[in-house]
Amino acid sequence: MHAVLAGGVGAARYLIGATEAFPPADTTAIVNVGDDIVMHGLNISPDLDTCTYTLAGAIDPTRGWGLVDETWQAMETLAGYGGESWFGLGDRDLGTHLHRTDRLASGATLTEVTAEIAARWGVGCRLLPVTDDRVSTMVTLIDGSEITFQEYFVRLGHDVEISSVRFDGVDSARPTAEVMHAITTADSLVVAPSNPIVSIGPVLAVPGVRDAVAARRDRNVAISPIIGGRALKGPADRMLAELGQESSVIGVARIYRELASALIIDEADRDLAPAVESAGMRAVVAPTIMSEPGVAASLARLAVAVATGTR
Ligand code: GDP
Ligand code: CA
Repeated sequence: MHAVLAGGVGAARYLIGATEAFPPADTTAIVNVGDDIVMHGLNISPDLDTCTYTLAGAIDPTRGWGLVDETWQAMETLAGYGGESWFGLGDRDLGTHLHRTDRLASGATLTEVTAEIAARWGVGCRLLPVTDDRVSTMVTLIDGSEITFQEYFVRLGHDVEISSVRFDGVDSARPTAEVMHAITTADSLVVAPSNPIVSIGPVLAVPGVRDAVAARRDRNVAISPIIGGRALKGPADRMLAELGQESSVIGVARIYRELASALIIDEADRDLAPAVESAGMRAVVAPTIMSEPGVAASLARLAVAVATGTR
């Protein structure tokens, strides 16, 4: 079995590759829930839904989130009442959140509901929230105010400097039994090219997860979300710099060196391979831009080969 620590877009693209390269059921993704938010009384799990919709081939390709062929009548009605409408919820997408909210209210776990939603969309790999407990990523801005991750990311368009990040509720959260089983028994474990601070950070922060991942370091590989010093999309590069880390594959290596033995870096960063190795990780250079056809599947094959020691 192939385990993947996952956020949203970068992870979802990698999971497509993994399900092309291997029998889909062989891959288990352990997904961030720090982005989860309750809006209008609805339980919304953006990273789980991005993985589900992407694997289903139903993600909107231009927005990069939400469903294709979406309409926005419910949001227009809501805005007409003066309700909060900065967090876009399409009419089709709302059905997912209605179902999730209803099932959670009836006592189902997020793990169970996620499996039901994934099955409905024909997702072949396993998607596991890292925990069934509530963990909320909170961002402190440079002016000292603290806001939820979605207020930072969506309402402010991450166009504001931050000074720290914390994961509210994480100290009393527990990883699910399924997650711990996947981490301890996987033949290979890949840290997907997701935001290290707000996508992978909250996964590792759930008590027990970081130690379990570190304990099998030699069979773990990370893929850099930073290419040529920049994130392909989103604020990962600025967040690293604002939090005093280096926005480069060297900075990524310093974050992951205790968790994985190798870092796959893009061909654009070939010159930095020796510095990555000095930082304590084996550097493996490969094409990593997964919008190019075939790259995601090749990357999954390479990551598994490196993790299992055949490359
Ligand atoms: P989010 O939760 O939707 O913001 O997504 P993630 O945290 O999973 O992914 C965001 C990160 O993924 C950014 O730092 C991107 O640079 C990185 N990313 C997205 N697509 C790719 C890709 O094709 N290749 C690599 N190497 N990184 C990617
Ligand atoms: Ca996310």
